[in-house]
Amino acid sequence: MAIDPTLPYEESNIFAKILRGEIPCNKVFEDDHVLAFRDIAPQAPTHILVIPKGPYVSWDDFSARASEAEIAAFVRAVGAIAREAGLVEPGYRLLANTGGHGGQEVPHLHVHIFGGRPLGPMLAR
Ligand code: 5GP
Repeated sequence: MAIDPTLPYEESNIFAKILRGEIPCNKVFEDDHVLAFRDIAPQAPTHILVIPKGPYVSWDDFSARASEAEIAAFVRAVGAIAREAGLVEPGYRLLANTGGHGGQEVPHLHVHIFGGRPLGPMLAR
């Protein structure tokens, strides 16, 4: 079920558990502000989730409350991870589902990086 991104941060969400090391992930990148790992149910040959380490529910929450350092680190990490995965020349897609209409399921901001094949139309028609 899609989440309400205006609700307070919930420490029991699955990505908070990954950040605390309580459940494993297939890590592809980590620095002081960012963790990235492979999606458990990939929807493309490359499907990576990039998350901030801070407690941000959604893109809305992050863009309003995060520090300049957190925002810069996150944006640079997304680019670096896609570059490192070899996705720049063939191309890739970023997605940040936000709230109900966005279909966001996990209430911790995550950007999906999809690549490895032509990804089709921007939205289902
Ligand atoms: P959303 O719909 O919120 O944008 O995407 C949530 C994503 O998290 C989905 O693509 C889903 O497959 C992924 N996901 C959910 N639980 C886990 C998990 O425990 N580990 C990993 N690596 N991905 C997960």
